[in-house]
Amino acid sequence: MDRTALREKYRAERDKRLRADGNDQYIEPTGTFAHYLDDPYVQRTERAPRTGDVEFAFIGGGFAGLVVGAALKRAGIDDVCIIEKGGDFGGTWYWNRYPGAMCDTAAFVYMPLLEETGHMPTEKYAKAPEILEHCRRIGEHFDLYGNALLSTEVTDLEWDPASSRWIIRSNRGDDIRARHVGMGTGPLHRPKLPGIDGIERFEGPAGHRSRWNYDVTGGDPSGAPMTGLNDKRVGIIGTGATAVQCIPHLAEHAGELFVFQRTPSSIDVRNNHPIDPGWFATLEPGWQQQWLENFTILQTGGWAEEDLVQDGWTDITQRIFKKFTEMDSGERTVESWMAAFHESDDEKMEEIRARCDEVVNDPATAEALKPWYRQLCKRPCFHDEYLLAYNKPNVTLVDTDGRGVREIDRSGAWVGDRHYELDCIVYASGFEVGTSYARRSGYDTTGRNGVKLSQRWDPGMVSKHGMHVHGFPNLYVVSPMQAANLISNIPHNLVEAANTLAAILQHANDTGAVEVEVTQEAENEWMDLLRSNPRRFGADPDCTPGYYNNEGKVDEMGDGLAGVGYPDGAWAYFQYIKGWRESGDFDGLEFR
Ligand code: NDP
Repeated sequence: MDRTALREKYRAERDKRLRADGNDQYIEPTGTFAHYLDDPYVQRTERAPRTGDVEFAFIGGGFAGLVVGAALKRAGIDDVCIIEKGGDFGGTWYWNRYPGAMCDTAAFVYMPLLEETGHMPTEKYAKAPEILEHCRRIGEHFDLYGNALLSTEVTDLEWDPASSRWIIRSNRGDDIRARHVGMGTGPLHRPKLPGIDGIERFEGPAGHRSRWNYDVTGGDPSGAPMTGLNDKRVGIIGTGATAVQCIPHLAEHAGELFVFQRTPSSIDVRNNHPIDPGWFATLEPGWQQQWLENFTILQTGGWAEEDLVQDGWTDITQRIFKKFTEMDSGERTVESWMAAFHESDDEKMEEIRARCDEVVNDPATAEALKPWYRQLCKRPCFHDEYLLAYNKPNVTLVDTDGRGVREIDRSGAWVGDRHYELDCIVYASGFEVGTSYARRSGYDTTGRNGVKLSQRWDPGMVSKHGMHVHGFPNLYVVSPMQAANLISNIPHNLVEAANTLAAILQHANDTGAVEVEVTQEAENEWMDLLRSNPRRFGADPDCTPGYYNNEGKVDEMGDGLAGVGYPDGAWAYFQYIKGWRESGDFDGLEFR
């Protein structure tokens, strides 16, 4: 492998895709595009506004809200009200019902509370309907439905110092006063549309793939044939992680399928298989925590006797680890670790590119599907049928060589000088990431002295543990950011945060405290610790643009600290935070 030539090729491919407009290239689904956010899964029913007090309110009914709700119930805190804009619990799994939706992280570590709810995943990688069902199972098991407000969007959150409570207002006229509020609104939930000229002119059905309308396509999320597409020319714009899962199904059912590609994804092997109930029955109590720890250790470059999950997430770090351990101890430096990383990544990406040639019959199509960047520049994908779809006679890859679709008109899409007639279009163009927290959440949060969270975070996110922000008492942000930052398995971050939050609230109750707030000093100390981490998630200027690196505008990522985790890594953070909450000191927090 000529590494110098490879680096040049990577840079040349990146340069084709760099755009001056960065995040601004995308269209926000407001105004004439607002209907792209409509919930196609429930009929809105009217209800009376809720008023009165609640002990704990959580904004967001995805995994964050569910695992926090479960942890609080287990801690004896019963008065929990989850507020969710979707018509049911599930978060990302509520919205994403597109054909082929599944989870890329093994179900045994991805699906939380399996032991507590007694569920055995049916496959190593669970499909979306099973995960959505599991969300409902958690809701039922921990009795979270009774007090929940579904199909409800928070519009305003304001701290009332006189009563030491948060006032929550919603689009349903609710006016609730909560002692404590958690926020788990997720980083990837506000769809964005590609900024293509004329997008509003298309006359056929068009939708964002996170709001799949089976009334148009036929079929259902469990894979029933999409008979509505049999005689249709379908276009899909985007080839990211979700398109990769969706395309084989569209290829199966559409009369013709045109895949408009700007940047190819890296497609590693999937190797899914059913779970053997006999084997599952042999797992000892406490197995899930053991699997979680094992996956986190191996995925973040640590060592364990056994790789329990064994998949593409742990593969690359294990390669680096092997190379590193084969060195003499004197050779093991930060530089040699980085060299082992680059070597392992180059090997991996060569394998991924070779797979395109092995699987795809047409050499030009195979060539166009090859990703020319490092594996973690974009979300890695794992799929066994995606590349095969391009061998079907009804499927055309329209490779735009990094430029994207030029224009959309009433009857189709233009790429360069060629027009593609289409009956319907699927936008698989992702979600807002680089926009402000308030814009993505749909409400702002007003803390002590009228200070807004959007103001506080305008220069960049600040917190202690990613959870506490000075000036915002009794408010708890639940996400992976500024904590473990374990991207490969988001629920592991959330489960740890839930345990921490339950311990904090129990302590507040035990001591009769009505306010819990991080001190400015403790917040500063945490931010200094994060600053000492040389690794900035997504801050690699050599990467091809995408939401990981602010669409290539790395110099506009501010201090980049929103995406920075504990300097010693995810596993060290989980050990640290366990010790912090179990010590009973809650160092850095004031209980008043
Ligand atoms: P992505 O941001 O990954 O992909 C968006 C796609 O749209 C890219 O291919 C992008 O191209 C393309 N695009 C945008 N604008 C244009 C344009 N003008 N012309 C042509 N193409 C365009 O979004 P997804 O919704 O696919 O995935 C979002 C995230 O969801 C993933 O990254 C992952 O984190 C998560 N996910 C998780 C799963 C799980 O298993 N847990 C499964 C699936 C998704 P370009 O690359 O050039 O920008």
